[in-house]
Amino acid sequence: MSEYKDATLAIRAGIRQTQEQENSEAIFMTSSFAYSSAAEAAGKFCGELDGNVYSRFTNPTVEMFEKRLAALEKGEAAIATSSGMAALMTLGYSLLKAGDKVVCSRNIFGSTVKFFNAYMAKYNVEIAYVDATDYDAWEREIDDNTRLCYFETPSNPLYEVVDVAKVAELAHAKGALLCVDTVLATPALQNPLTQGADIVMQSATKFIDGQGRCLGGALIASKEIVSQFVAFMRSAGPAMSPFNAWVLLNGLETLSLRMKAHSGNAQALAEFLEQHPKVAKVNYGGLPSHKYHELAKAQQKDFGGVMSFELDGGREAAWTFIDNVKLMSITGNLGDTKTLVTHPATTTHGRLTDEEKLAAGIKEGLVRLSVGLEDIEDIIADVEQALAKV
Ligand SMILES: *Cc1c(COP(=O)(O)O)cnc(C)c1O
Repeated sequence: MSEYKDATLAIRAGIRQTQEQENSEAIFMTSSFAYSSAAEAAGKFCGELDGNVYSRFTNPTVEMFEKRLAALEKGEAAIATSSGMAALMTLGYSLLKAGDKVVCSRNIFGSTVKFFNAYMAKYNVEIAYVDATDYDAWEREIDDNTRLCYFETPSNPLYEVVDVAKVAELAHAKGALLCVDTVLATPALQNPLTQGADIVMQSATKFIDGQGRCLGGALIASKEIVSQFVAFMRSAGPAMSPFNAWVLLNGLETLSLRMKAHSGNAQALAEFLEQHPKVAKVNYGGLPSHKYHELAKAQQKDFGGVMSFELDGGREAAWTFIDNVKLMSITGNLGDTKTLVTHPATTTHGRLTDEEKLAAGIKEGLVRLSVGLEDIEDIIADVEQALAKV
């Protein structure tokens, strides 16, 4: 299928039709698979025969999702997991051992920090945090024990953009692997594997589903690396449900169209916010004034749907804004057709200590928006009337 362009791959890659000749992908809601003989069962269990055994190992609907996502990410293979965090867990437990070091950007998803600090550190994995765009710091921290480098680009919620090729070069110089979380960009806007990364981590819960319906995650990499994740999956079992895989397969079909529309709405809203007197700062890569605009333009096809902005007046101002929205949903999720608003300091990043928040730049006056696909005039009107109450 690799001869086809992305829009075609998004709709056709990975399809496995049954003898019923269905044109929409089938949902294989089955935990196990049955055999015609004891010998066939034995052959499939020991791997001498190809075929399905149990849905913790493989499932045809989940495999369709994995193949389609791998095609869009330009990776050799993918493994689907029950959530984005299950993908991170699979990454950590598959690749890391006691004595290894992880070098990770500071401004990352709150649960990612917790997973590294609470669970990986417990097994004597050393975690060093660096400012994502301080390449001297990356170089200083990556040493011979470093097995994994990890960052988000663009980052949530401050829209920092990290140069994938630069960190990949520093990681590879010391024999470390680079995993990039591009949940905000999705494969429709950026393919880190073509820019030097070894592994891409996705939370399919966000824009890949795109309608806030179900959880899912994935890791995309070379066949050799994915085989290590597959071995962990068989033993530990954070598998994706076949039903969720079916929802997410459908999500991939329209992903690039939706990302274009999210980006258009977000751009218009960011431009509105930037000239609003009550807004101190807007963090969105599509604004020429944004620190990382040029790098985002070079690495990404567009700027996506997530942004944040700062209000003077700290938590009170941010909460007043949020309490006065009429159209938007107040929720910590992102990547929905609905526009979503949240206060990172007390929700998505609420489990971080004050020190960790300060280091990550999560201020009390910060508001995050995941700009949806409602009419942009209605979105701007809602933001405008809520800002008037601040
Ligand atoms: C949501 C999210 C995750 C975690 O994914 P889940 O599917 O919620 O487990 C990781 N990274 C980023 C950037 C996210 O937005």
